Amino acid sequence: MKIRAAVLNGLDEAFRIETLQLAPPGPGEVLVRVEACGVCASDWNLVTGATKHALPLVPGHEGAGVIEAVGPEAGRLKAGDPVILNWAPGCGGCFQCLDARPALCEVNTRPIWKGTLLDGSCRLSRDGGEAVHHWCGLSCFAERAVVPAASCFVRPADVPPEVAALIGCAVTTGAGAALETAEVRPGESVLVYGAGGVGLSVVLGARVAGAAQVIVVERSEARAEAAVQLGASVGLIDDDDTVAEVRARTGGRGADVAIDATGAPGAQARCLDATRPGARIVFVGFPRQEATLALGTARLTREAKQIRGAYYGGGNPPREFARLVQLYRSGALPLDRLVGRRWALDEINEAFAELVAASSPLRGIVTFPGG
Ligand SMILES: [Zn+2]
Ligand SMILES: [Zn+2]
Repeated sequence: MKIRAAVLNGLDEAFRIETLQLAPPGPGEVLVRVEACGVCASDWNLVTGATKHALPLVPGHEGAGVIEAVGPEAGRLKAGDPVILNWAPGCGGCFQCLDARPALCEVNTRPIWKGTLLDGSCRLSRDGGEAVHHWCGLSCFAERAVVPAASCFVRPADVPPEVAALIGCAVTTGAGAALETAEVRPGESVLVYGAGGVGLSVVLGARVAGAAQVIVVERSEARAEAAVQLGASVGLIDDDDTVAEVRARTGGRGADVAIDATGAPGAQARCLDATRPGARIVFVGFPRQEATLALGTARLTREAKQIRGAYYGGGNPPREFARLVQLYRSGALPLDRLVGRRWALDEINEAFAELVAASSPLRGIVTFPGG
């Protein structure tokens, strides 16, 4: 079938809306009508080259939709199922999957990072036959997508598409970093660097975990303000006094937990400086692929600090989706309040310009007319 999709053809180029061919789903695959796809910095990292990937590709990995058709061996999935899409599906059988870390799956990671579906080939192409790469096996800045059945999590019908899309990346990543990787405990103080979609989700996750204090540090006033409205104790603007300010607010000692949602080495270093001895420090934002950080390792040992990386929040994504859906439906996680401006597919370049400028505090979402 023919679909309209956003295509990235070269580094530092604008996304172009093109009509592509989408082949039918093969074994273990399904066809999804995309309802919503969040505007996430991980897609922008493809444009800047911070994340290296084969081009051309169709971006979009924070998606939700409705299954329209299933290929052979698609398990219990059926047409009409509303789904949340998982950008790191597990195979269920490798060491990492059996160890409850399917986002690190040893089998599926390779084809997904080559820009194909799990069998090593593409369903997307141009009229001349040239293959167009997939992104995370999803590519949902498009009217329709063929995705692995393993990427589909069937959601209750009362979870709206925009919220479902955000659970597919930002919320699982951010709330998961607080709940699963940092293991925030009731009464703790949590420092959060960055309040984009992931950082705001860290704030919500830390509050659900019972944090007594959530200190957000941002470059953008609008985002710092949004963080406070979502439950942060304070939103500080990042400057040379930030570390001293965080210490002053945490009994002179430093925060119990720090979570960096920016991926910027400077922010990661401040997370180390602004935490108490014995603190847990979680890096969840994606740095450039070649990024490094100089560490005062003597201090790390003497102060018994732990640095933990969190990929997709660090938990088991489908299990996290189920938990976050429950928390949303119970009212404990007000995910509707993360939803920012809704954009049409044709406006995707403006949507990313807004993300890069941090001019809107909430998550922009590309939505697709139903039917
Ligand atoms: Zn994302
Ligand atoms: Zn696996």
